[in-house]
Amino acid sequence: MIDVEKIRRDFPILGREVYGKPLVYFDNAATTQKPQCVIDAISEAYCNENANVHRGIHFLSQHATDLMESARDKVRQFIGAGSTEEIIFTRGTTESINLLASSFSSAFLKEGDEVIISGMEHHSNIVPWQIQSERYGFRIKVIPVLDNGELDLEAFKALVSDKTRLVSITHVSNVLGTVNPVSEIISLAHSHGIPVAVDGAQSVPHIKVNVQELGADFYAFSGHKIYGPTGIGVLYGRKELLEQMPPYQGGGEMIKRVTFEKTTYNELPYKFEAGTPDYVGSIALAKALDYVQGIGMDNIAAYESELCSYAIERLNGIPDMRIIGNAEHRSAVVSFLVGNIYPSDMGTLLDRLGIAVRTGHHCAEPLMDRLGIPGTVRASFAFYNTKHEIDSLAEGIERVKQMF
Ligand code: PLP
Repeated sequence: MIDVEKIRRDFPILGREVYGKPLVYFDNAATTQKPQCVIDAISEAYCNENANVHRGIHFLSQHATDLMESARDKVRQFIGAGSTEEIIFTRGTTESINLLASSFSSAFLKEGDEVIISGMEHHSNIVPWQIQSERYGFRIKVIPVLDNGELDLEAFKALVSDKTRLVSITHVSNVLGTVNPVSEIISLAHSHGIPVAVDGAQSVPHIKVNVQELGADFYAFSGHKIYGPTGIGVLYGRKELLEQMPPYQGGGEMIKRVTFEKTTYNELPYKFEAGTPDYVGSIALAKALDYVQGIGMDNIAAYESELCSYAIERLNGIPDMRIIGNAEHRSAVVSFLVGNIYPSDMGTLLDRLGIAVRTGHHCAEPLMDRLGIPGTVRASFAFYNTKHEIDSLAEGIERVKQMF
């Protein structure tokens, strides 16, 4: 099980105060805090291991290359991929989906084709497809969201047609906490020969993910949401598909041979990694993955689920509380509104009590439109949070209510 007090000591920032109050950090869906071992890995890389990777024959360059490539293998193992050729390092989920949208569209999409996304997507799984649909003329269809915050799977079945070329959906909603039945969605899509891309930004940090067991064709996530550094992320893609897709950006690293007449591209995964990669970020991400594996993904999921249920129970005890999203399977996110209090007012006043929550549309404006609300207050949890902190949140909300 989780020894939360011991874990908290691994995260230096959790010991600080905000406005003279102990920090209660409930903005983990935006980014997580970093354990000392990740901070040390970054420092160690620059103090002792730094040299540009892949191109050097000297000791340090080869050493840095080995570290980066073993980080790639760590990611492969962490998400259950078959080969490191299928692990592309990017800047984060946003870049992963932009890479996918740009390259997949160029290889496979034309006018008349259709891509299915869902009504609870983050803007980063909407806008890249819109940009490409303007270029290639395909249509975007949207799986509706039910009132309880789950996807309408019957409607999804009706959307699938012989024009559908890809389904791209989030595993976990960053607003509602809904855990979507991606296995079921993938099986259905595959029975029509349609590949599926999954936005794993909010799943990989919280639940055990195995891309092969899920059958996902593409899977994207961000390092900074799983206790790793900013600026590093991953796109997993099935080799067979990646091989048919053109490069996303051109430059160094992604080529085999360049002449003014013709350039040949590097093999996977380097074909998709133009320029000097964030090798320090990769090394530190691998350290973060080691760290969470040390705690155990099953322990993390069980503890966070307990925290989430406790939060819902505590918040539901507050008069005028409206929790947004009530899916049967949910992850460590609770969005809410209280009476007529604007989310930003609630967030600002909670902040004065040392409680960090996020307010607004959470980069999911179409979902806000569907729900008929301008935004929510969102508390999102990590395994270093405690029930005591949730009590502080509930008491804080009561205090804010009294001010209105
Ligand atoms: N997808 C989801 C579901 C998210 O919650 C986020 C970030 O909040 C993203 C994508 C984008 O992640 P990043 O900003 O790390 O690229």
